[in-house]
Amino acid sequence: MTTDHKLRSLPAVDTLLNSIEGQQLIAEFGRVATVAALRQALNDARRRLNDGELPDVRTLVLSSARSQLSREFGSSLRAVINATGVIIHTNLGRAPLAESARRAMLEVAVGYSTLEYDLDAGARGSRLHHAEALLRAVTGAEAALVVNNNAAALVLLLSALAQGREVVISRGQLIEIGGGFRIPDVMAQSGARLVEVGTTNRTRLDDYERAIGEATALLLHAHASNFRIVGFTETPSLADMAALAHRHGLWLVDDLGSGALLDTAVYGLEHEPTVQESLAAGADAVCFSGDKLLGGPQAGIVVGRKAIIDRLRQHPLARAVRADKLSLAALVATLRHYRKGDAVDAIPVWQMIARPLEELQRTAQSWAAELGGEVIEGESTVGGGSLPGASLPTRLLALDVPGATAFVAALRAAPTPVIARISGQRVLFDPRTVLPGQEAALVATVRACLAQRADA
Ligand SMILES: *Cc1c(COP(=O)(O)O)cnc(C)c1O
Repeated sequence: MTTDHKLRSLPAVDTLLNSIEGQQLIAEFGRVATVAALRQALNDARRRLNDGELPDVRTLVLSSARSQLSREFGSSLRAVINATGVIIHTNLGRAPLAESARRAMLEVAVGYSTLEYDLDAGARGSRLHHAEALLRAVTGAEAALVVNNNAAALVLLLSALAQGREVVISRGQLIEIGGGFRIPDVMAQSGARLVEVGTTNRTRLDDYERAIGEATALLLHAHASNFRIVGFTETPSLADMAALAHRHGLWLVDDLGSGALLDTAVYGLEHEPTVQESLAAGADAVCFSGDKLLGGPQAGIVVGRKAIIDRLRQHPLARAVRADKLSLAALVATLRHYRKGDAVDAIPVWQMIARPLEELQRTAQSWAAELGGEVIEGESTVGGGSLPGASLPTRLLALDVPGATAFVAALRAAPTPVIARISGQRVLFDPRTVLPGQEAALVATVRACLAQRADA
């Protein structure tokens, strides 16, 4: 057959649309997208026909249109099972939400709400106050504000309090949080001028004091949340920094990062500084994330003096970085658990931190009974820029699979992807971060991937 003949053998778009397969595509993806995908698939087929043979063009065009449509309609944002043992896994969406938080989101999502409505007055209200009473009660702060995330909280704080003026910070705290988010860059964005003091490992109170001048707006303390400097180090206490700031009529702002409200040391971890401690030490404003150790939705929370919070609320940027109604609903539901005193029982991040070793051992053993392998000792980490270097003893299921890299890739390709760790030739599964409802799916997926290997 000549190329011309072959090209003429290409089916017409209309013929394909009217076929059973075409009708199915229309039912699933709609007419417009289906026509576009078929045209695209026909163009590809035409190019390949010019280059040589193409068996069964019709089937090929239909199936390539289908995979194109599936890719287009499918989301790259999917639920996965986290078997890594990293509790606040930044790449896997940080904190899973409490049941109450999920219900609260659903409630405001499906209908109208009092997002900016005051029921008593029957008039316009403000979204900026929904979580405030709880945040004040839980942290002891005078006032509180919730924005989109902690990076936004920091930009807002620096813009509102220090634009065109100087912010003094230790060289040991000029940190990069991850994803290219660097404190010095954030400060530049806010229009505040950075004044670095001390050295990477040692900064003393008089280093700060010498840097204070006419143009100084505030002292900034940033929690070194994702790294640790050990050895010959020195840094003044937050209380001493606060006293120094206040002697000079300045604010002390503390970027706490993780925002623990409970003491991590109770669970055998190192002590992560809490929001309450930071305020008690004299910080005038403390900012932290909603979805790290707080265990709630993505949010940036600022607590502290009313004079500061009022200025933040009135700043034009406040509108640009405001929190949405779903996050606010989830945050309020999460905070209620802290106020009520049942956070460790209700909030997944804390449930995972507090999980008893015997329970982890039992779960790992039940997996081993179903899947083979061996239960070994290991360590889970908190992650998410909290408690660098600290870990919790755990029990792991270790599977010896030749070609571990290909095996974990198969686990990721499963309908419910499972994310596991590799150590040497072994694939490790940590029960600590696998949610109660996910265990059956994990076992089924691992079994299917093992069977696939056996067939290969
Ligand atoms: C995580 C972190 C941030 C950024 O918080 P997001 O909520 O991710 O925007 C800022 N500062 C510190 C110290 C952090 O640990």
